[in-house]
Amino acid sequence: MNKITFTDGRTFTPSKIICVGRNYSAHIKEMESERTEEPVLFLKPNSSLCDITRPIPLLQNRGAVHHEIELALCISRTGSKIQAGDADSFIAGYGLALDLTLRDMQTKAKKAGLPWAIAKGFDCACPISSFVLKDKVPDVTNLELSLKINNIQRQHGSTAQMLFSIQEIVSFASMFYTLLEGDIILTGTPSGVGPLEPGDKIEASISHIAEINTICKAG
Ligand code: MG
Repeated sequence: MNKITFTDGRTFTPSKIICVGRNYSAHIKEMESERTEEPVLFLKPNSSLCDITRPIPLLQNRGAVHHEIELALCISRTGSKIQAGDADSFIAGYGLALDLTLRDMQTKAKKAGLPWAIAKGFDCACPISSFVLKDKVPDVTNLELSLKINNIQRQHGSTAQMLFSIQEIVSFASMFYTLLEGDIILTGTPSGVGPLEPGDKIEASISHIAEINTICKAG
C-alpha cells in the first residue's frame, strides 16, 4: 500500500482517495458541465498515489492525460456522518495533488453514462506532495493555486472560489463513506485544465503548502 508523508515525518496509509468534481465554476464552464446541488464525488484507489516530486509516468495510447491541480486534505481519525461544524477536528493537514484524468476516456464514459473509474483511477493518477499540519496553514479558505507547464501559466485560482467548503465536503463524504485516519480528499480544480506530454516540466504550488518542480515521462 502507498503511504503519504507529513512534513513532521509521520506517515499514513490512505484507504481511499475521495475526489470532488465541479467545485469551481470556471472549471464547470470549461467542461460544459452543470453545477450540482450536492458535491459530485468519485474515488481513486490507493494504487493511484505516487510521489509528485519524482518523474510522473503518463499512460500512453489512451488519449489525453489532463492535469488538475487540487488542494488535498488528510483525515486525522475515524469519522462517520460528521456535521460540517465538527469537520475541522477530523482534518490532520493539507497537501498538493494532481487529479490526473484520461480526458478522452472520461468524455466517452460520460456520453455513454458509464463510470469514470479508469479515467480517474489508473496507476499514478494521483501524484501528491508531502502534507503540512493544518495548524501551519493560516487560512485554508484563501490559498493560491498555481500550475505552470514549460514556464507557461495554465491554472491559477484560489480556494476562495470553491463552491462547496472543505467542511461541507468532509461532512457530505462522511454521510456515505466512513472516513479513516490517513484518507485523502481532493477538493476540486480551478479552470485551465489541459493535456500533459512526456518531457513537460511542471511547476505547481499552493501557498503555505507546497512548491513543486517536477517532470512528466512516458509511463
Ligand atoms: Mg478534479
